[in-house]
Amino acid sequence: MFNKNKTYEQHDNEKISYYRSSIDDLNSQDNLSSTVDVDICVIGGGLTGISSALNLNNKGFSVALCEARKIGWGASGRNGGQLGIGMRKDQYTIEKKLGFSHAKELWNLGLESVSDVKNLINIHNINCHLVNGVMSTACFEKDIDEYKFEIDHMSKNYNFEEYKFFNKSEIREEINSEMYLSGLLNSGSYHLNPLKLTIGLAKIIQQNGVKVFENTPVKNIYEKGDRVEVITNKGIIKANKVVVACNGYLDSLLGSKKNKFIPINNYIVATEPLGEKTAKEIIKNNYAVCDTRFIIDYYRFSEDWRMIFGGGETFTSKFVKNSQSFVHKRMSKVFPQLKNVKIDYSWGGTLAITINRLPHFGALMNNKLIYAFGYSGHGLALSVLAGKLISEYLNGDNQRFKFFSDISHMSIPMGSVFRRPIYSSAILYYKFRDYLNS
Ligand SMILES: Cc1cc2nc3c(=O)[nH]c(=O)nc-3n(C[C@H](O)[C@H](O)[C@H](O)COP(=O)(O)OP(=O)(O)OC[C@H]3O[C@@H](n4cnc5c(N)ncnc54)[C@H](O)[C@@H]3O)c2cc1C
Repeated sequence: MFNKNKTYEQHDNEKISYYRSSIDDLNSQDNLSSTVDVDICVIGGGLTGISSALNLNNKGFSVALCEARKIGWGASGRNGGQLGIGMRKDQYTIEKKLGFSHAKELWNLGLESVSDVKNLINIHNINCHLVNGVMSTACFEKDIDEYKFEIDHMSKNYNFEEYKFFNKSEIREEINSEMYLSGLLNSGSYHLNPLKLTIGLAKIIQQNGVKVFENTPVKNIYEKGDRVEVITNKGIIKANKVVVACNGYLDSLLGSKKNKFIPINNYIVATEPLGEKTAKEIIKNNYAVCDTRFIIDYYRFSEDWRMIFGGGETFTSKFVKNSQSFVHKRMSKVFPQLKNVKIDYSWGGTLAITINRLPHFGALMNNKLIYAFGYSGHGLALSVLAGKLISEYLNGDNQRFKFFSDISHMSIPMGSVFRRPIYSSAILYYKFRDYLNS
């Protein structure tokens, strides 16, 4: 039996994001009033949960999805919108840990994840403003050699030719900031409005007959013979299997599994619309950008030419009080020309970071409970892939799910007590390192 405490660890950021203002909520009319009986119950209305429901429903399973708040309330509706290929770590590092052939399988799955999202957008005509190109920008001298190594390694070992190197003057042409020493463009990656994608996919699952219960937090999950019972504040869902897709908001729902990741809060602001001309004076080709520091800055322009700028992390159970000035400071450092523009929205979200930065997939309760979390800030495409692999697993084919579930993950020792202090010390250390290197 698993149960969840009354509240989330991170529950207090109710500020409206730019994304929420750009699309109506799903506002599902489905109501869980007593007991529902389905093949599969999915917990969590972010992209992992919605993609699981979509793929399972396509395979003929009856599915009900419970979301504690609103569809897209978690990271899926709040993120930086960077739809990146690959994993959070570079392939070379993954090869060292897992061996080349396993690393290559993960790379191929990473390519598939972005291609799947593009296909879903096309097939279902989801208007979420997909734009090509993500640029990494170098803050440190050592990054230049690392970029060159990455281009060479990926070309030789993966036939990947979508990288382009930018030297100091070239990157200055592309990104109008004095901060960067070079750049690495990845033309295999994209950016988009993530909440429009999430709600767009949620509409499809509803149309296909999946019951979507919003404002329905799950309190307990019980094993009952060869079935499971999912207990919510409104009613009970009886199912053959349950998918837990709560990522950074998991808390104690899966007991000690919460020690496999550190929940961290990350913050974003959206400026007033700046107009296409000004936007392109700042980012010439409308790429999304992220830098090479440990606590990264990441940014891009929205569909209505607002600068969406993310950066700054906290690890306490509460969000910072004034996230706007927190992020504004970082943005003004990169783009002094934006210091006086109006900030229309500021918000935060919680993500799940694993120690090795790879996602954690697995099964519990004699394979009746499947979970996936820990995308470590690189989950926009991987969460959609996770749903597909979960559906394959529950349909009797665990071959590709295993590429993730076979990865071992360290627990944080005495995690419930130490995970936040440990991470806070790490952040201080890396902040100091970023400072020394800058
Ligand atoms: C600020 C920020 C910026 C990011 N930027 C990027 C980016 O640019 N690119 C990228 O690839 N990734 C990014 N990420 C990470 C990415 O957003 C996540 O990896 C991905 O969205 C995870 O999706 P998910 O469905 O697993 O989790 P979530 O979207 O967090 O969904 C989990 C859901 O579970 C619900 N839930 C929790 N407990 C319960 C319960 N007991 N009962 C019912 N429901 C419950 C929550 O309410 C939540 O809606 C970012 C994350 C954040 C926070």
